[in-house]
Amino acid sequence: MRILVLGGTTEASALVSALAKRPAVAVTLSLAGRTSDPRPSPAPTRVGGFGGVEGLAEHLRATRTDLLIDATHPFAAVISRNAAAAARAAGVPLLALRRPPWRREAGDRWTEVDGIIAAARALGATPRNVFLTIGRLELAPFLAAAPGHRYLMRTIEPVGALPGVTAITERGPFDEAAERALMVREGVEVLVTKNSGGRATYGKVAAARALGLPVILVRQPEKPAVTRVETSAEALAWIEAHRAALTERGV
Ligand code: NAP
Repeated sequence: MRILVLGGTTEASALVSALAKRPAVAVTLSLAGRTSDPRPSPAPTRVGGFGGVEGLAEHLRATRTDLLIDATHPFAAVISRNAAAAARAAGVPLLALRRPPWRREAGDRWTEVDGIIAAARALGATPRNVFLTIGRLELAPFLAAAPGHRYLMRTIEPVGALPGVTAITERGPFDEAAERALMVREGVEVLVTKNSGGRATYGKVAAARALGLPVILVRQPEKPAVTRVETSAEALAWIEAHRAALTERGV
């Protein structure tokens, strides 16, 4: 059985690692190519866009893919829309593996906003020390909308030297104690982050709560309504049910 996993997340990597151990499964991981040095995968990996819905549908047909798993990041909305349309066009069953967003807890001082520009505007005019964890490609529009603050920016890929920005290049996971120490050391006054969900990057949110710091949290964008699970274990069960059905039909 051939499975294509659209990845770029911890969950996708975990699922691909589990599937790579199954002899009856030929799994391929697909990455957009945003990270120049992605973590090694035990399965074949293809890198780069497909060329929209048509390109992905054609890829599914050409590779005779049996199942498509959309395990992309909650903020990667275009590829999820494309996956839903392409799976429909190619007649390939699709499963979305989507982590739930973080939920507000007692002590959280969250301002929830829609989009990066709204997050920048929510900082207000008084200059503050801002811990920014939004992703390198969204830095420029953010700085244009809120230029007056001092930014501590953490990214996987280097962002280069920019006025008013202290850059840290580091890849998660980040635990709460380390995040708390970083925020105290750097005099962080407010955290700006996407509501990515999951454990790997939750440490900064817990640290902000413990320190009583405000958080500007970008809400997750809408994703298409398709069959959806929240964990790799549930995805494996869904895949196994499809494998059994295909075997029964002698496919
Ligand atoms: P996006 O806006 O939803 O997608 C833009 C285009 O990138 C898609 O139309 C597709 O190009 C290509 N693409 C995206 N994911 C792909 C994949 N897994 N395999 C092949 N092509 C892919 O995505 P994005 O927000 O730029 O994110 C890009 C990747 O980084 C995603 O795979 C996501 O899981 C990962 N990521 C994103 C974030 C985030 O905050 N957005 C955070 C962590 C990881 P074509 O139309 O040419 O097929």
